[in-house]
Amino acid sequence: MRYCKRCILPDTRPGIFLDNEGVCSGCRGHDDKEITINWARRAAAFKEIVAEAKTHSTGYDCIVPVSGGKDSWYQVITCQQYGLKVLGVTWRTPGRTGIGQRNLDNMISRLSLDHIDFTIDPDVERRFMIAAYERKGATAIPMHMALFAIPIRFAVQMRIPLVIWGENPQLEFGGEQVERLATELDLHWIAKHGVTNQTAREDWIGVKDLTNEDLAAYRLPLESDFRSFAPKSIFLGSFFKWNSFENTRVSAKHGFESNAANLKTGVWHFADIDCHFIALHHFLKWYKFGFLRSFDNLSVQIRYGLTTREDAIRELREKGFQVPNDDITRFCEFADKPESWFWETAESFRNNSEVWRRHGDTWTIPGFLIDDWDWTHS
Ligand SMILES: [Zn+2]
Repeated sequence: MRYCKRCILPDTRPGIFLDNEGVCSGCRGHDDKEITINWARRAAAFKEIVAEAKTHSTGYDCIVPVSGGKDSWYQVITCQQYGLKVLGVTWRTPGRTGIGQRNLDNMISRLSLDHIDFTIDPDVERRFMIAAYERKGATAIPMHMALFAIPIRFAVQMRIPLVIWGENPQLEFGGEQVERLATELDLHWIAKHGVTNQTAREDWIGVKDLTNEDLAAYRLPLESDFRSFAPKSIFLGSFFKWNSFENTRVSAKHGFESNAANLKTGVWHFADIDCHFIALHHFLKWYKFGFLRSFDNLSVQIRYGLTTREDAIRELREKGFQVPNDDITRFCEFADKPESWFWETAESFRNNSEVWRRHGDTWTIPGFLIDDWDWTHS
């Protein structure tokens, strides 16, 4: 396990690889944003896409998939500034938080947004989440499947010519340069980067008695569905330089509320606040890849020049091992399982070949970023 010499991410993180200077693909993505990409040219290209959408539009010009979070506010605000008539589409998480609901309600009213809140049968979500957790150690597979499939299907079926997603994850968090510079999110991209552990909806039919009908909401359009109508699907962050802090500032000016009182995961009060179950998705990376959400947040801050590598490591050491206990309790209640089930399953996904080593009763990560880390409860 090796760490980037600029930020604090390990090369076990999916999409992160170090080049021969020891710099990770996430930091190289930042270089692309600062040096390689001509943002004036990208903004001009966005204007052309808007004009093209308007010629094909029969009402709504674009769908913006929204959660109610800071990035969704920023996406809607930017699209409206460019004159697009937006339809907001949400996959309603079964773990929606109070602040998540408030932010979504305020976004709809303050930004005058037409909106679809799409709810999947909670019992299907429950069985699918349990299955995804037990088989792949990944509670968020159903979430990722739903949040890509639902907006794209609405676009095809309502003949809305444009879907505008948020950041390009490869540009922000690491990937090959050709993908960092890409602007479109297509079916190929979803199959590769859709965070479904390389599974498709069909792979889950029959698991936990899930039927084809149960899983209807997770169905992506087929290539053949696009023959009659093919919406363009783009990352807004490929056309305007993405900055989570700037997005929060813009969103807050219009009414977005941060979660100052209750930090769920990582070190940002303005992120990961819409859903009680999102912290679990991040927490399980500790077992599989040996890092926590704070590593992601602080690495972005280092790239933005908001902290140094030394200060980030100091902050991480002070925070120690963060466990989202409340959300684990809530998830087990939702799943109707004892908490011992959660911990035993998490343990079964500990990567003891590439990341973890056992010394007696204690697990440690050889070569960990912080020498004097407290491994007692890890
Ligand atoms: Zn880096």
